[in-house]
Amino acid sequence: MTSEPNRVATMDKIVALSKRRGFVFPGSEMYGGLANTWDFGPLGAELRNNIKQLWWRTFVQRRRDMLGQDAGILMNPKVWEASGHVVNFTDPLVDCKTCKSRFRADHLLEDKLHIADAAAKTPEEMSAILREANLACPVCGNRTLTDARKFNMMFTTTIGPVSESGTSVYLRPETAQGIFVQYKNVLNTQRVKVPFGVGQIGKAFRNEITPGNFIFRLLEFEQMEIEYFCKPGEAAETFEQWLANMKAWVELIGLNPEHVRVREHAKEELSHYSDRTVDFEYLFPGTLGWKELYGLANRTDFDLRQHQEHSGEDLTYFDQAENTRYLPYVIEPTFGVDRTMLVLLVDAYDEEETVDVNGKSDIRTVLRLDPKLAPFKAAVLPLAKKPELTGVAKELFETLQIETNAMIDYDETANIGKRYRRQDEIGTPFCITVDFDTLEDGAVTVRDRDSMEQQRMPMTEVAAYVNKHIR
Ligand code: ATP
Repeated sequence: MTSEPNRVATMDKIVALSKRRGFVFPGSEMYGGLANTWDFGPLGAELRNNIKQLWWRTFVQRRRDMLGQDAGILMNPKVWEASGHVVNFTDPLVDCKTCKSRFRADHLLEDKLHIADAAAKTPEEMSAILREANLACPVCGNRTLTDARKFNMMFTTTIGPVSESGTSVYLRPETAQGIFVQYKNVLNTQRVKVPFGVGQIGKAFRNEITPGNFIFRLLEFEQMEIEYFCKPGEAAETFEQWLANMKAWVELIGLNPEHVRVREHAKEELSHYSDRTVDFEYLFPGTLGWKELYGLANRTDFDLRQHQEHSGEDLTYFDQAENTRYLPYVIEPTFGVDRTMLVLLVDAYDEEETVDVNGKSDIRTVLRLDPKLAPFKAAVLPLAKKPELTGVAKELFETLQIETNAMIDYDETANIGKRYRRQDEIGTPFCITVDFDTLEDGAVTVRDRDSMEQQRMPMTEVAAYVNKHIR
């Protein structure tokens, strides 16, 4: 099964809603854009912050065996030689000699020739299959595709005033290496004992040959990564624990379990550093189908060993309890912020038929985001734009901002029905309406986004009610 016929969310609807409501805008749009770059608008920025804060709380702040750090994007190029990225961080690339389009050879094999696990094949094997099939270019239709060759995906830039005399450096393609190169400093300054882990959130850059599918595959993206250092003999068990932790995260953010599966990598498919890898895959709508959302890898002692050899620094750990010295193994759970955001939008998107008091039916679009992650937690809406109502509403708005410590919206434009629809579309869990009765009884109406049920409650209780539902 690659897609569900009856799912209401389509990528086109998500892209349209994202633009319409300010989640994601095309990058540099007023200058004609820059292909495959996107900017996150006010709502997108809130959603991303909520994802990152929840992740940090869950995996760094609430665990005694975890610490955080924030390494730079630019590093000494020797880091990337030691890590193997200079030689191995490549994609197999195919060019069309006629129209100059570029494709990933493994994608052509998978999409056009339906060959599973094509990524596990060497460029030579892929070239042989492509030649045999005499595949036409998907863009111009000519049978003029080249053989597959390796293409390094790291972006380079130059430090220094002129490019000829400057030093070439890479923009990091993953945040992980920043943790490995600071592992000894963390060990020496933080009173930690193996097993322990370091978590980090930051931008990474990859010169992807075939970016696309909205924010699924970007050139510039954000990762939330953990490097968990453990005894070599305990790596398999630690891997299982992190597998369970990642499953718990998928549940915590409220994804439909039927849309997520765990896929074990075949031996031939493993990265150069990995002993075991599983992908968390998500069932995207339409032709995209099952695609990687997160990864979990047993990186063994590959990275520490490489950095030890290349830098000459002793990176072994002295285990006092057992009076032994060893290089820890590393279990790496890795999460993409952008893919998390995308699957949350896709999973939360719903369309529902509603009937108004006059019996007129309509479709409402609603984002059923978990309240923990919703950009705005509540919206305060005066029933009419009358000073006696807006005055009270603004006061309530300010009180809620302070007492919930969260983003609260205030809206006095348009009729109340339109304002509800707007909040439904951006996933606001609660709409709080101040009406003329409020002036008499000090109570307001709280409308639930999902059930659309309304309840009256004293204004003084609203902050506690919202707080109860958004933590
Ligand atoms: P893919 O197979 O989709 O290229 P990958 O296996 O190269 O992904 P990792 O190196 O494991 O990805 O990166 C860790 C996480 O970072 C991924 O699970 C994904 O969430 C995110 N990620 C990787 N590449 C991109 C990208 N180009 N755009 C957005 N997110 C990305």
